[in-house]
Amino acid sequence: MASQAATKEKRESRAVVRLIEAGSAVECTTCEALLKFRARQRDQQVICNVYEDGVWQRVEHYHPECYDVAGLPHGATGD
Ligand SMILES: [Zn+2]
Repeated sequence: MASQAATKEKRESRAVVRLIEAGSAVECTTCEALLKFRARQRDQQVICNVYEDGVWQRVEHYHPECYDVAGLPHGATGD
């Protein structure tokens, strides 16, 4: 794993955009449809590590467009 943020203050939820990988079988948090890997499509997903009070809770996955529709619930996507 890459090194974490420099500060050791409260961890906050963050969202990143990643390619959907072969064999992926997770549901979009917004629309509940599967995030499907399609050969040669290189579809992307938004992956959010969700923290509450600095404690990791869960990972959520979204279609990029669904994440926008949901109003960027875990902040803008970055890297
Ligand atoms: Zn969706």
